[in-house]
Amino acid sequence: MFFHILFVILHPMTNEYQLRVLPQVAANTEQLRKYIAEEQGLALGALKAVRILKRSIDARQRTIFVNLKVRVYVNELPTEDEFEHVDYQNVSNRPQVIVVGAGPGGLFAALRLIELGFRPVVLERGKDVHERKKDLANISRTQQVDGESNYCFGEGGAGAYSDGKLYTRSKKRGNIEKILRVFCQHGASTNILADAHPHIGTDRLPQVIEAMRNTIIKCGGEVHFQTKVERLLIVGQRVVGCFAADKEYVGPVILATGHSARDVYRYLNEEKIHLEAKGIAVGVRLEHPSLLIDQIQYHRKEGRGQWLPAAEYAFVTQADGRGVYSFCMCPGGFVIPAATGPEQIVVNGMSPASRGTQWSNSGMVVEVRPEDIESEKLRVKSEESAPALAMMRFQEELERMCWQQGNMKQTAPAQRMADFVNGKLSYDLPRSSYAPGLVSSPLHFWMPKPIVSRLQQGFRQFGKQAHGFLTNEAVMIAVETRTSSPVRIVRDNETLMHVQIEGLFPCGEGAGYAGGIVSAGVDGERCAEMCALYIEKNG
Ligand SMILES: Cc1cc2nc3c(=O)[nH]c(=O)nc-3n(C[C@H](O)[C@H](O)[C@H](O)COP(=O)(O)OP(=O)(O)OC[C@H]3O[C@@H](n4cnc5c(N)ncnc54)[C@H](O)[C@@H]3O)c2cc1C
Repeated sequence: MFFHILFVILHPMTNEYQLRVLPQVAANTEQLRKYIAEEQGLALGALKAVRILKRSIDARQRTIFVNLKVRVYVNELPTEDEFEHVDYQNVSNRPQVIVVGAGPGGLFAALRLIELGFRPVVLERGKDVHERKKDLANISRTQQVDGESNYCFGEGGAGAYSDGKLYTRSKKRGNIEKILRVFCQHGASTNILADAHPHIGTDRLPQVIEAMRNTIIKCGGEVHFQTKVERLLIVGQRVVGCFAADKEYVGPVILATGHSARDVYRYLNEEKIHLEAKGIAVGVRLEHPSLLIDQIQYHRKEGRGQWLPAAEYAFVTQADGRGVYSFCMCPGGFVIPAATGPEQIVVNGMSPASRGTQWSNSGMVVEVRPEDIESEKLRVKSEESAPALAMMRFQEELERMCWQQGNMKQTAPAQRMADFVNGKLSYDLPRSSYAPGLVSSPLHFWMPKPIVSRLQQGFRQFGKQAHGFLTNEAVMIAVETRTSSPVRIVRDNETLMHVQIEGLFPCGEGAGYAGGIVSAGVDGERCAEMCALYIEKNG
């Protein structure tokens, strides 16, 4: 008997449990240890460590719970790493691959190439992630956008100054977990491995991106900033490199230039490299006081309180045969000016890791298909006729109209939400996080009618689903157009090479095969793998 008790007391073991605890317990390691010890009948002293493997919030009822999956270490400390690390080798003398674009697609392609024993040469038109920040601040200060360094262009791509949300609709769990592990290996919090809705935050992302760049360089790869690729080197039907900043770079090309590189699409179209118009979604950024969203989502007057994160929401409905939905929600975040050139206003959202600002915003967008341009008489620029670029021209036209409405600066046209639904001009606007400033404008009047009507129907519907959501305390800021690529650079499903041209791997969001940081990263890895096979086969 004595030996049995001694065995239980001293025997080292690990156990995994599913728990449903109050937020204050989930948020405090000591409280969580006590809770588990009591629940499982363990001596507190024997419980040496607790690792959270999965975490999600259940806010369906008045009492909010946090669901946890935990691994508990009894009479021992963890010996294994929190996650499996990737081994990056020296590739200095290995065959080289040109990676165009240092967004998530390009960076994950470069890192995967290193794993596979190939030397990435990354060419990025924008500045490094820290230098870039000054140009972002300048947008609000000078009302001017630098066409090469902005919220979409520069190291880290469109994902660098974002919310850093890391969830995706893609189902390939293994690939997604690998992307999260690589982020952790480069300094992201390991919370992202456990959270149901992981995010890094715009204040933490730059360090992570810089660490990824350092891995590439340390292993013998190259990263060049302010090096815009102007054209591909094409011999017969094969890409053998590219030309950038007065220099030729030789090797197969992974083209990961994102959804905003309109000059790249125009160049490819001129070269008769097969492209297709792709459906997008356009609309506005909707900004509420974060307290209001917390009150609605957590069903209580005090909002999130001390222990809960800023609340999220996701809405989706159909109006007149097209989807209307919330997109890329940024709880406790900012609305930002995401244009990439002159005569454009484009808005988007980002949040710091704490998600602690007074505002919560989300894109509210309506699906637009290529055939809608004709059937719904959407306005597009007329000088250019390439059908593959029709959706891009529609985006451009909408952004230009918005800029005109915004006094030809980055001050964005805006309208209170209920006023928009009721077709009324807003006489004043609420305080907003959008730094360049807002100007009151009748969005219901000048935005394309099919978008206005569907947004109005969608908002009425969402207001019924979440009492208090449809309110004049919320402001709509125009326009959100860069939800995904308006063009597909068509590739072969198996080789991931362009359908006509060998040695060209269209990659990530700009190619039309990803939408978001994680899916662009997954696609970058896949393109690297296919490019490695191509080199092995063709020498
Ligand atoms: C403000 C904002 C917030 C976002 N928030 C989130 C979020 O929270 N979660 C999420 O999943 N997604 C978010 N997104 C979307 C996400 O950032 C993109 O889906 C993702 O970055 C796409 O990755 P990519 O590598 O394919 O392209 P990009 O990130 O667009 O990268 C393309 C890169 O190519 C470079 N480039 C372009 N042309 C050339 C050229 N000719 N020569 C050399 N370089 C070139 C660009 O400068 C850029 O750095 C956000 C986007 C924005 C704009």
